[in-house]
Amino acid sequence: MTHDLTTASDMMIGGQSVASQARFGVVNPATGKVFAEAPDCSREQLDMAMNAAEKAAASWRADENARRVAIRQAADTLLADQQDLAAVLSAEQGKPFKAACYEVAETARWMKAATDLELPRTVVQDDATAYADIRHRPLGVVAAITPWNFPLLLAGWKLGPALLAGNTVVLKPSPFTPLSTLRLGELLASVLPPGVVNVVSGGDELGAWMTSHPAVRKISFTGSVPTGKAVAAAAAPDLKRITLELGGNDAAIVLDDADPAAVERGLFWGAFINNGQICAGIKRIYVPEKLHDGIVEALAQRARSVRVGAGTEEGVQLGPIQNRPQFERVQGLVKEALAGGARAAAGGKAMDRPGYFFEPTILTGAAEGTRIVDEEQFGPAVPVIPYRDVDDAIERANNTKYGLSGSVWSPDIERAAEVASRLHSGTGFVNDHLALGPHLPFGGTKWSGVGVENGSWGLEEFTELQVIYRSRK
Ligand code: NAD
Repeated sequence: MTHDLTTASDMMIGGQSVASQARFGVVNPATGKVFAEAPDCSREQLDMAMNAAEKAAASWRADENARRVAIRQAADTLLADQQDLAAVLSAEQGKPFKAACYEVAETARWMKAATDLELPRTVVQDDATAYADIRHRPLGVVAAITPWNFPLLLAGWKLGPALLAGNTVVLKPSPFTPLSTLRLGELLASVLPPGVVNVVSGGDELGAWMTSHPAVRKISFTGSVPTGKAVAAAAAPDLKRITLELGGNDAAIVLDDADPAAVERGLFWGAFINNGQICAGIKRIYVPEKLHDGIVEALAQRARSVRVGAGTEEGVQLGPIQNRPQFERVQGLVKEALAGGARAAAGGKAMDRPGYFFEPTILTGAAEGTRIVDEEQFGPAVPVIPYRDVDDAIERANNTKYGLSGSVWSPDIERAAEVASRLHSGTGFVNDHLALGPHLPFGGTKWSGVGVENGSWGLEEFTELQVIYRSRK
């Protein structure tokens, strides 16, 4: 590895590396100690980034094929830097180095997938009266704001389609994980025209400045429900377009004909991948009463066998929780459930070592009315809840303000698909969870979001329609 992890990249504004006067510390979650500093963008520097994005827009929107080629090159540049980029990501986010490498590769794959999409020109009238076609035009400057769980991948989900559609971007990572995105900005600037992608870093207030900035015509936001609502409110006075990818409280429903041994692996990793810090991960597992004990035991066995450690340790499967507030929240939710009568079939407490490590936790005896069931825990602890019949399970799965995804598990695929179609969520999986792909529109119902990302549906959210009507009268 050649990249010095303690030397953060500068911001990328108009194709130039830009340092800041103020800087803030970045914590390694495996130690709890600050290991690097990142630039704290000033208001004037944000204006510079917005100006650069506006200036770059005219030529960037002119040539769709040139954009396609440039985005592919940008993705290849990330792949060429995979090891270094993954080292930075793993150090700041906490995820195992191998998982970080995978995230870099997926970011590139997603960006390339966007370039396989077409912006259709549709003829809607061709008769004696008129010839009318519909075009997709770019919106202008996109403010892209990301969370700390998948800093690169979620940036890639936005960059590919936003750029292909002809927009320019100002991207801001979470203050907990700014470093990999800053480096991404540096890499992209080596192949994209100046100002097409600008990367700024700073605290939450920088996000608020972005969403109220007059240059921005579209906000693509991934993060929590409360922030999502603040973003929607900030967008309203200027009628900025928004896509909001927010939190989830996904239910997995195991049907009564399922074999615990056949489903436990998928259920476990559907809940624990990225240490449970994933919007569309399993947050509640509903099982028929007769299968309850078997499934709990199988999940607990797997939880006990998982190797937890620093992302740099060989063979580690799960890292620490990403930041102290989240660590304290997960700890609090589990403590509260245990105090209320729940039992930890595996785990149940923080690990006795520095950093934000928490034992992979399987809870039983926690029902609705307990915060770990009702709220999004976003961490390595999942409740297993018995249900009476399928109607009962569906009602309880849907009894939430969230609606990102859900899953149904059974050897009878069509029966499971029928049950999945009754979930009030953006996606209903059968015998899988988190099977996301660049071709599958991803988004939530209710408080889980507004709009979708991915596929042609996600691409279209970075455009506005224009009708060109030619009279033949
Ligand atoms: P968060 O809402 O605290 O922060 C997300 C981003 O918004 C950060 O970059 C933050 O600095 C910025 N921000 C904060 N206040 C802002 C404001 N007023 N205006 C504009 N931007 C502001 O979320 P988080 O804790 O970083 O991430 C975890 C949450 O993200 C979870 O709820 C998770 O479910 C959700 N998430 C959703 C998806 C999805 O695709 N649906 C994916 C990943 C994470």
